Amino acid sequence: MTPRLSRSELSPTERGLRSRIVQIASGERFLRGTLSERSSKCGKPNCRCANGVGHASLYLVQSHAGRVRQLCIPKALQDPVRQAVREFQEMQRLLQEVSELEWQRFLAKKG
Ligand SMILES: [Zn+2]
Repeated sequence: MTPRLSRSELSPTERGLRSRIVQIASGERFLRGTLSERSSKCGKPNCRCANGVGHASLYLVQSHAGRVRQLCIPKALQDPVRQAVREFQEMQRLLQEVSELEWQRFLAKKG
């Protein structure tokens, strides 16, 4: 394996994947984790949640250093956090695709 790739080695598909990685990496936020919607009762006897649907809250759940940790996401940040989680997932998918192409390239040269 040579240390650097030359662009001529890359198929148009792979160039597209790599460009998308650069685009996301340079301008988007990422968050790894799973979003979990929960409903809870606040405990105030006169609150609407006492007899009905609880208050909706959104958590980001993540495994970290062998443990699970979570963040409660305030309403105002829910859309950006959802977006950041999607960007992380897309980045992960793109990296896996490029890794697969590298795998295939390695096999082809070896054979
Ligand atoms: Zn309540």
